[in-house]
Amino acid sequence: MKITFPCKFCKTYYLTVPLSQGLSNLVCPKCSKEIPVRISESLFTGIVDSCALCGRDKFYIRKAFNRRLGFIVVLIGIILSSYYSSSLLGLLILMGITFLDTIIYYFSPWMTVCYTCQAEYRGFKKNPRHKAFDLKMQEQYRRY
Ligand SMILES: [Zn+2]
Ligand SMILES: [Zn+2]
Repeated sequence: MKITFPCKFCKTYYLTVPLSQGLSNLVCPKCSKEIPVRISESLFTGIVDSCALCGRDKFYIRKAFNRRLGFIVVLIGIILSSYYSSSLLGLLILMGITFLDTIIYYFSPWMTVCYTCQAEYRGFKKNPRHKAFDLKMQEQYRRY
């Protein structure tokens, strides 16, 4: 289980919260500001209920899909298939790549994201109350 979040002060540095620690404050290595962290009982048991960073309880779930990896796979596919574009092989490569991309997505784990502060929770159990991303919720709850 792991929580990653952008520092709310400099907004560029991503910090990781070690869940083992009972936890009080984290210090951003980049801007050295202190960030209060509260790990709830529920978080310790692996269920995301309220956010350890902002305390709100609005989350969405999404696949922790490695976009860069997906992009590279597709790019290689396009290059290869254009190289073999005159033969059936080109088409087969393209189909294979699309399939591979779907497989990568399918096996990617789920993660929970806080609407308010964009903290990412990986390796937690899925909370049935959390739904897929909703733009209206984002507009309503996003704070920074
Ligand atoms: Zn910072
Ligand atoms: Zn939050």
